[in-house]
Amino acid sequence: MAIPVPEDIVPLETILPDEPLLMMGAGPVPIPARVAAANSIVINHLGDTLAQVIEQVKAMSRYVFQTRSQHILGVAGPGSAAMEMAVVNLVEPDSTVLSICNGFFSNRLADMSRRARARVVQEIVPDGVAADPIQVAALLAQHRPAVLTIVQGETSNTVFNRHLPAICKAAQAHNCMVVVDAVCTLSTMELAMDQWGIDAVITGGQKGLSSIPGVSLVAFSNSAWQFIEARTDELMHWCYDAKLADQFWYKKSYHYTAPVSGILAIHEALRLICEETLPARIDRHLRCSQALQAGIEGMGLSLYVKPEARLNSVVGIEVPDGIESKALLRYMSERYRVEISGSFGPNIVRIGQMGEQSRSHHLFRTLHALGSSIKALGARINLPAGVAALEQSLEAHEFGDGY
Ligand SMILES: *Cc1c(COP(=O)(O)O)cnc(C)c1O
Repeated sequence: MAIPVPEDIVPLETILPDEPLLMMGAGPVPIPARVAAANSIVINHLGDTLAQVIEQVKAMSRYVFQTRSQHILGVAGPGSAAMEMAVVNLVEPDSTVLSICNGFFSNRLADMSRRARARVVQEIVPDGVAADPIQVAALLAQHRPAVLTIVQGETSNTVFNRHLPAICKAAQAHNCMVVVDAVCTLSTMELAMDQWGIDAVITGGQKGLSSIPGVSLVAFSNSAWQFIEARTDELMHWCYDAKLADQFWYKKSYHYTAPVSGILAIHEALRLICEETLPARIDRHLRCSQALQAGIEGMGLSLYVKPEARLNSVVGIEVPDGIESKALLRYMSERYRVEISGSFGPNIVRIGQMGEQSRSHHLFRTLHALGSSIKALGARINLPAGVAALEQSLEAHEFGDGY
């Protein structure tokens, strides 16, 4: 054998910590036990059992996306693969795309649209503010785009596009299809696909849905599907061709071997959402995020985004002067076994409030770990006041079971 067996390979248990870190960053997020159990099963990808599971995944997705559309597809891949699937099927070469860019992920949609050979008009929204529907309406009138891309929640800098419904309305008035990235917001904040008139909603597994990374969902509206069916050009992407994926998701035939374990996992994640119901789940996320924010401010730290454009699903926190965010993350992880995220740009750290992260016991542990670590690294904060503010905020609301 020319290539020898590698030396020094150790079993996984040698690499993994004995006790898993509490994943409180911008994703992946902790998964419920039922999701983890489902993810350990492999079954036939074309058998009756998976067919039954797929029917339920589609039915539950219609509830979670709030759509009657019969064109919800799963994709073997990250949230970015679902983004790519929405873009390459709805963006025709030489068409115009208006990309509303609030940060890293919305820029990715612009980048994908350019690669799909569109003429991309990129509207860069200033950092820390939501896109303005009046400005977007003016851009729609000026450029007459075929597609508008936008993110509901910009995980990278914790900005929330609160005017999304008005923006969708403006796009509809200009006959422009709307692609919405809802990877961190779906099932954590309100999104009504049909009512708002969205043509494609994208989500990943490992954020709002609290499932595993690597299996994602994309929902196309009926009119978006008509557009896809009417297209006569051949897509460059075979895996992401929605008409081919439709073969598997609606016609019980083969496209590629479906990620069976991940589909079982997402089934359980969706089932838990249906069991909790969307209003209760969205309320849980709101209350938990607000309590976390109160705790952070109560300690004397500043939140990165002003309330009017602040995302609930991911909370951005300014790191005190003299402390490097990397050092803070390392300290929290090593000393308290709590993992949160840094950022791609500003000196902030981010705490996620998606799915299983929005549980009160996780909030206390995370706030304590953050505050104690900042103190240990030499900044002056009032941790007891923060913990009290967190408790007061939680107590101020009538909490049902499961918080
Ligand atoms: C994480 C994220 C993505 C990308 O998801 P991947 O699974 O990393 O590809 C896209 N959009 C938003 C808003 C995200 O938070």
